[in-house]
Amino acid sequence: MPATRTLPSIEVDQAKCLSPMNCGKCLHVCPDVVLISVPKYNEKFRECSNDDFTISVHNRPACTGCMKCVEVCPVDCIKIEYEQAVATA
Ligand code: SF4
Ligand code: SF4
Repeated sequence: MPATRTLPSIEVDQAKCLSPMNCGKCLHVCPDVVLISVPKYNEKFRECSNDDFTISVHNRPACTGCMKCVEVCPVDCIKIEYEQAVATA
């Protein structure tokens, strides 16, 4: 039987997020580069304003559940819960 570990579910309420370009505290505090900033639109030559970026979960398996991002977010829009066991071997 393969070993398993529990991966967290990571949700960011995009409606509440201040935008990674205006805030970005969660990006700076995460020690494992789980979260990244991405443009909302994928249109070539479109000029992006600071509000045209969003937080995306880039590497969920790397999340250790340290909760630093949750603690630092000024508008409390990151939710992390453990609910899913996955095989690691
Ligand atoms: S809980 Fe920790 S490791 Fe996971 S995304 Fe937040 S800061 Fe990164
Ligand atoms: S810390 Fe919160 S408000 Fe700031 S960019 Fe991250 S999710 Fe958005």
